[in-house]
Amino acid sequence: MYYVDAHTHRLVTDDEVVSLVNIENRSDLPLRDERHVLSYGIHPWYADKEPDEEVLDTVSVIGEIGLDKVKGPSMERQKQVFKRQLYVAKRRQVPVVIHCVRSWQEVCSILSEIGLTMPLLFHGYSSSPQMADDLLAHYNAYFSFSTREMTRKKSVEVMKHIPITRLLIETDDSEESSVRQLYAKVAEILNIQEEELKRVCWENFETFLIKSTQPFDK
Ligand SMILES: [Zn+2]
Repeated sequence: MYYVDAHTHRLVTDDEVVSLVNIENRSDLPLRDERHVLSYGIHPWYADKEPDEEVLDTVSVIGEIGLDKVKGPSMERQKQVFKRQLYVAKRRQVPVVIHCVRSWQEVCSILSEIGLTMPLLFHGYSSSPQMADDLLAHYNAYFSFSTREMTRKKSVEVMKHIPITRLLIETDDSEESSVRQLYAKVAEILNIQEEELKRVCWENFETFLIKSTQPFDK
């Protein structure tokens, strides 16, 4: 059984890990193989750039995309780029990785306006359990947690609160923590065996990716 790293900016070669790798541009497209699923999108911090439409049309997952009130160009510009990429995801019916910092109201109103039914991964989730309930009620929502969230009391609460079928684990841009360490930590938080957590996260990842389109075997 593989470990799943549900969102990372680093290409890690490890026989026991399948990762959703966030790529920056088309030159990274050949990285796709049986252990690296690729995601591409213009991050809100860099929303002054234009997305490469051809790459958006190629990758298995669109993201990470979203809104950030703390960093990046104007909210108006961020919204414009976020929407444009969400429309591609809707047309292609592919899952999306979402980055949201202090912009929940804006993100939710855009998601409702566009009307998305495919899986949405709220990565590095750090909002409240109530917000998680709200997202689950309205969208096909998944939540992933990185080393940053493991130390936050509120995020630990959310991890315990959400249905385990919606949980994923990610290393994001962290250099110091391995996905193995994160699984050990989450297994401890949830008080379950690590093997069980691996099985659950694998199934969640398959469902997130819309099972039928994926070539992997357990
Ligand atoms: Zn990231």
